[in-house]
Amino acid sequence: MKAAIFKQPYEVAYADIARPSDPQEGEAIVRVMACGLCGSDLHPYRGAEKGLQPGTVCGHEFAGVIEQVGAGVSLAPGTRVAASFTTACGQCWFCTHSLSSRCKSARLFGWIDESGSGVHGGQAQFVRVPHADTTLVGLPDDVSFEEGVLAGDIFSTGYFCAKNALNALADSGLSPCDLTVVVIGCGPVGLCAVAGARMLGFGHMYAIDRVESRLQMAQQLGATPVYPGQNPDDTIKAATAHNGGYGADAVLEVVGAYEALDLSFQLVRPGGVVSSVGVHAHDRGFPVSPEQLYNKNITFCSGRCPARSLMEESIQLVSLSGILQIISHRVPLSHAPEMYAKFEKQADGILKVIFDPWG
Ligand code: NAD
Ligand code: ZN
Repeated sequence: MKAAIFKQPYEVAYADIARPSDPQEGEAIVRVMACGLCGSDLHPYRGAEKGLQPGTVCGHEFAGVIEQVGAGVSLAPGTRVAASFTTACGQCWFCTHSLSSRCKSARLFGWIDESGSGVHGGQAQFVRVPHADTTLVGLPDDVSFEEGVLAGDIFSTGYFCAKNALNALADSGLSPCDLTVVVIGCGPVGLCAVAGARMLGFGHMYAIDRVESRLQMAQQLGATPVYPGQNPDDTIKAATAHNGGYGADAVLEVVGAYEALDLSFQLVRPGGVVSSVGVHAHDRGFPVSPEQLYNKNITFCSGRCPARSLMEESIQLVSLSGILQIISHRVPLSHAPEMYAKFEKQADGILKVIFDPWG
């Protein structure tokens, strides 16, 4: 079969590899019908995340049709499904308490470490899925494979980021429509955070990025863009003048860079919340001290999105969210090497890439 495989930093290849077969107990083999390229795929691609074994099939966003199942799997061959980006056993304390991302046996698709442990990814024609019944979700007939791909990772993650912020402000006495939220980073996940914040009812939304076209997309999704020439601090203070100009009630950090987290703490008001889903694959530490957090009564939320715990909800929301418009490229999987390079450089207006493994 054909797959995109990781070779080394800055090199992904489109290759012929052995097709997964002979599903073991609890496993399914899924015929992939659509798969996504994610900002998280860029961390190993850039060499910022280390330890990925060369030859690993890339990607953790995919949807398709069950081809074959092992013993004990109740999903039937032929079922249309989407996967969450990490596997979930469905049984452990975390899986049964809405935190599938901390499942005791969770594996990130597309991550096989140097000792050979892990699971191959979904940027392929077929993928082996452990814990199939509790990692895969059946797609209703009116939900497309693309929507399933977005629900399995980026839509759920953006929604999770916004929802954490709203939950943290529950005791503020303010209703969502009174709240000001700033989204830092308007890549695919940040744009999903804008869409998620809008669905949760946040009344005032601002978006920050360095790339103008991404800010324009944030605007289309309902946020006011803060352009690179504008001073974000002054802009957000002015935008919250009705509340004393103290700053944003919530800042969503969706970059994974020290500067973005630093800016989040500058823009949030005392008593506000910084909700971060960016993967901080750097060694620069945390931009504020416990004392600074204390002196502003800041709530800080972060972590890997429990996508499997949220997927039933996000599958319902994804088509209403307007987020499909962020898909800028629908291309055959054979274009993967070129798409990784362009996405990394933010070239050609690239925003969200969906691959067709059969195109
Ligand atoms: P991306 O790289 O496509 O987007 C990042 C955006 O941030 C870009 O548009 C870039 O221009 C902008 N940016 C960079 N530095 C900035 C700065 N200092 N200030 C403002 N904007 C800045 O990535 P993505 O796919 O949108 O993902 C965003 C982050 O979310 C990544 O770190 C990714 O790994 C992470 N992620 C986390 C989870 C989770 O479960 N927590 C899931 C998926 C992705
Ligand atoms: Zn992802």
